[in-house]
Amino acid sequence: MAYQALYRVWRSQRFDDVVGQKAVTQTLKNAVLQNQISHAYLFTGPRGTGKTSAAKIFAKAINCPNSHDGEPCNECEMCKAITAGAQEDVIEIDAASNNGVDEIRFITDRAKYSPTQAKYKVYIIDEVHMLSTGAFNALLKTLEEPQESLVFILATTEPHKIPATIISRTQRFDFKRIDTKDIAEHLAYICDRIDVPYEAQALTVIAQAAEGGMRDALSMLDQAISFAEGTITMKDVMAVTGSLTYEMMDRFMGDCFAQDATAALEALDEILASGKEARRLLENLLVYCRDLLLYQKAPNLLAEKSGYLTAAFKDLAGKIPSAQLFNWIKLLNETQNEIRFTNSPTIYLEVATVKLAGPPPAPIAAVGSTDSGPATAADNQLVLELQHQVRQLAEELQQLKQGGTAAGTNGSGGHNSHHSSKDKAAATNSKYRLPKDKVYKVLEQATKDDVVKVRNVWGDLLMMFNALRKGLLVNTQIKAAGPRGLVLSFESEMVCQKASEDEELALMISNNLSRLIDGYAPDTVFIPESAWLELRQGFLNQSGSQNSSEHTEQSAVSQAAGFGEQTAAVPQEASVAFKAPENWADSGLMDGLTDPSAAAPEDRLVTKADELFGDLTTVIDD
Ligand SMILES: [Zn+2]
Repeated sequence: MAYQALYRVWRSQRFDDVVGQKAVTQTLKNAVLQNQISHAYLFTGPRGTGKTSAAKIFAKAINCPNSHDGEPCNECEMCKAITAGAQEDVIEIDAASNNGVDEIRFITDRAKYSPTQAKYKVYIIDEVHMLSTGAFNALLKTLEEPQESLVFILATTEPHKIPATIISRTQRFDFKRIDTKDIAEHLAYICDRIDVPYEAQALTVIAQAAEGGMRDALSMLDQAISFAEGTITMKDVMAVTGSLTYEMMDRFMGDCFAQDATAALEALDEILASGKEARRLLENLLVYCRDLLLYQKAPNLLAEKSGYLTAAFKDLAGKIPSAQLFNWIKLLNETQNEIRFTNSPTIYLEVATVKLAGPPPAPIAAVGSTDSGPATAADNQLVLELQHQVRQLAEELQQLKQGGTAAGTNGSGGHNSHHSSKDKAAATNSKYRLPKDKVYKVLEQATKDDVVKVRNVWGDLLMMFNALRKGLLVNTQIKAAGPRGLVLSFESEMVCQKASEDEELALMISNNLSRLIDGYAPDTVFIPESAWLELRQGFLNQSGSQNSSEHTEQSAVSQAAGFGEQTAAVPQEASVAFKAPENWADSGLMDGLTDPSAAAPEDRLVTKADELFGDLTTVIDD
């Protein structure tokens, strides 16, 4: 017989079996009893806390002809079919893989028809926060016109990503993290039923490691059972649970120490994607750093205490100077304070990651220290600075070679983005250096849609920053935007310099944007307003020379650039208010702008410029 995971076999089939969510299940039972069924429910809570189980039980309870005391009978045809996922009127959708408008349209179109067999047609949409904006809108339309026999149950671990318009049309239930004691008891209950002996303490350790999620607890129990020979002991459990968390943190901390911010952010992303909650992770990281310190000072003590230390951990403990560890602990502590009241702890964690992976602070004259660490740190700093200087010289040389006009190949290209965080750190003590390659990269993919998209939420975005950062961003313009990048210009070069010295700013813009525009997280490039025209011209020249085989396009591009100069001279207020200056009409350009379908050659230029630079297009649209 094929092995079935414990969490499948032991999935709750009745409200009373759902562990640790008494308040929620009681309310749902009462609703069934009193036949007060809402049209839409929102189940929120950390993963593995029983949201989808409760949704399925609810679908059964409202459709079961023998429902008793608000519970389904689990024995009739209807109950059995729903349990097996074979009842066509109860539809489960994973929004993580079906998040587009078309998928949701397909569902909402079919929702118009009455259920065929069941009393209620029930849609259970899991991970609903993953839906695209368009899909949310389509869903909203359906929720706005509720039908008698139609019930939506939306489940999510991240309710803050769901539009308020949707939330306001649902009845919301918050699933709590399950108490360690409740989880341990449930594990003991299952072990008794399947005749697996255990040490009580071992189950408690699993329950702690599961951090409130029953599904994780059962997965770990599964592993511990296969790992153990006979009785499940403390040692088995440490091997299973310890390796999960420790190995992920080994990697993360290793990347930070190597000052590889990209890798560290990727590791962080994976840890969070695996279901680790940001606040918990922060706690674990603090303990990890403390353990590194303890291990440096008293290795035996720690080995006894935690019982499980990876080779990578020991290796890190040997390499990381204690001064740096103190610094990391301080940073993690500060972050812990910052995230206490925020809805988006992940942002802070990402910012902290970039800081952790940054160069360590200059050693404070480590007098008499035998630690080789600070010297290494200083070496790293020096290497970074030298790298930076070499890159700068190489770029200047290239510009000289090409006479400064045609920008030619973009030297460091893809390599650049990989080291961007280090660049930023190293660039702080020089005059503002134009990130030309990065700007070009954005321009290559820039679209008018992306610019409009960003402009529409810019006001909301500013509200997400503190006063200091808001001040930096207030006199800026979105010059171009593409799927992966954004060019932001600052009125003053000094402010631009300041903004680029703020290591977190670009990251925060990206993160906050992704919260306002479903999953859109562009890399932001900062430039002074005064540099824009030249950058733009350079890019047009470059793309013109690359397209030399297509004569028409080339001339269109270069002429479009000329046109661009003209419009860019229009003050931002005017272009936002869409008051075209008079000289446009005189030059005949307004004709092309107001009627893009007319196929005069100039119009094609406008269209081309349109495709390249979103900044013209708002003028046309309104
Ligand atoms: Zn039934």
